[in-house]
Amino acid sequence: TEADAQQELTDGFHLVIDALKLNGIETIYGVPGIPITDLGRMAQAEGIRVVSFRHEQNAGNAAAIAGFLTKKPGVCLTVSAPGFLNGLTALANATTNCFPMILISGSSEREIVDLQQGDYEEMDQLAIAKPLCKAAFRVLHAADIGIGVARAIRAAVSGRPGGVYLDLPAKLFSQVMDAAAGEKSLVKVIDPAPAQIPGPAAVDRAINLLKGAKRPLIILGKGAAYAQADEEIRAFVEKSGIPFLPMSMAKGLLPDTHPQSAGAARSTALKDSDVVILLGARLNWLLSHGKGKTWGEPGSKQFIQVDIEPKEMDSNVEIAAPLVGDIGSVVSALLDRIDGSWQAPPADWIESIRSKKEANIAKMAPKLLKNSSPMDFHGALGSLKKVIAERPDAILVNEGANTLDLARGIIDMYQPRKRLDVGTWGVMGIGMGFAIAAAVETGKPVLAVEGDSAFGFSGMEVETICRYDLPVTIVIFNNNGIYRGTDTDPTGRDPGTTVFVKDSRYDKMMEAFGGVGVNVTTPDELYRAVSAAMDSGKPTLINAVIDPAAGSESGNIGSLNPQSVVVRK
Ligand code: ADP
Ligand code: MG
Repeated sequence: TEADAQQELTDGFHLVIDALKLNGIETIYGVPGIPITDLGRMAQAEGIRVVSFRHEQNAGNAAAIAGFLTKKPGVCLTVSAPGFLNGLTALANATTNCFPMILISGSSEREIVDLQQGDYEEMDQLAIAKPLCKAAFRVLHAADIGIGVARAIRAAVSGRPGGVYLDLPAKLFSQVMDAAAGEKSLVKVIDPAPAQIPGPAAVDRAINLLKGAKRPLIILGKGAAYAQADEEIRAFVEKSGIPFLPMSMAKGLLPDTHPQSAGAARSTALKDSDVVILLGARLNWLLSHGKGKTWGEPGSKQFIQVDIEPKEMDSNVEIAAPLVGDIGSVVSALLDRIDGSWQAPPADWIESIRSKKEANIAKMAPKLLKNSSPMDFHGALGSLKKVIAERPDAILVNEGANTLDLARGIIDMYQPRKRLDVGTWGVMGIGMGFAIAAAVETGKPVLAVEGDSAFGFSGMEVETICRYDLPVTIVIFNNNGIYRGTDTDPTGRDPGTTVFVKDSRYDKMMEAFGGVGVNVTTPDELYRAVSAAMDSGKPTLINAVIDPAAGSESGNIGSLNPQSVVVRK
């Protein structure tokens, strides 16, 4: 009939796009290909920003850090099998770091995959994703797309945030249904990350412990940065008068130059404190599991832990006062109890941290001013410290071994969520993905400080940076290799296993795509080049020539390298 012919139709493609838009997803990071090429095109046409990368892992890392920066799930879109697997590394990393992300991958014919009959890019992607993320879903019918997307969003951002996999078989996209029914099938997720209020008894227990402390310490983790409860956290720190120590990605929640920062007295603060309150930080390897030499005398510590994930409590050591809830709610509850009866921590504790901190800062200062050529890490980082001090709203992305460890300590941060780095796994390869998403999501200038080795994992994305004309400045700390550029092959046959081509010019890579390339050999030149690049907003890559002999094996974590005890004759 004529009425049938006039019936408005929608299909899987449009329902996925409408479902994402309905839930405020504004950007998709991905790599096009079968079966999701048209999905990307159509999403772009419908006003979603679609950022196409050169490799899925980088797109996935971009989505993950977009999730961290916005508290909305970052979306990564990939093709089936190999593209999916490439994206999966980023999804697993996002889950490990508690970043909300959704990996959407197209997949092959279910009937053929399940009978293992050898389809194009055949793989049981759902089964493979499951153990590596927080939740995994597959949608087989167009009418279920709304529910599928809603479940993925809620799973990613509620409770402890993490990665979610959403499997969309190729056939789904062209399935048609009545447009009005399709629209009705979509779900706008209400209150996707509900507040979790701590129990009053748990708050009492924590406050009593804090009140009895002689040497209290607050440790701020990236969960606290993620929570976006910046004002409450600042008020809690300042009203309590307790010294604070930021974990790497929590730097800037309060400025590193804040009088209560114990950053430059880290070892003293960890060793000598008696009551430690962890705000969105885990007692994993990055905090020596809460025990051992780092933490002073055995039994000298009592922990208060604030975390949204109840199972995190007692994961490594006993938690005397667990506070389960979201950081915003918990810190507000604690703040209510810091009233007229509150006493600042004992003056001798504050003084011991202050004097240690000043001594360490004074010891470091001359190293940061050295204007030598070739540069060492300290001289070069002294320049970058100045750059960030002058541009506190810029975002710093940082990876490498020595480049990471030293930059973390040397470059002060002044605002929340401005330092993005290798996170919980200490993984290399996040650099360009993080830099691109940081620029896209915030519109702020981005400075990516990269070891030459770390850069290699995502370096092809400089083309993406140029293509989207993003305000990203990349500095490569080029010491000719991994850790150092001095290894040789004892047999004389090949280059040493940790070295690269000597005196490479990474800046030329940027020029190949129309960006600006600069080669610098002194800290002064570096400072001028980075300042000019960040003022211009043009995609720029600065090859910073570092002494190949500078740097130490594995940076600060050389102790994690197993050692051979056998001497071969
Ligand atoms: P860091 O590496 O900086 O120490 P971690 O990733 O180890 O940080 O720890 C972050 C913690 O923060 C995780 O245990 C996570 O469950 C928690 N978390 C994340 N978001 C929130 C939130 N909104 N409220 C409370 N805890 C949170
Ligand atoms: Mg190197």
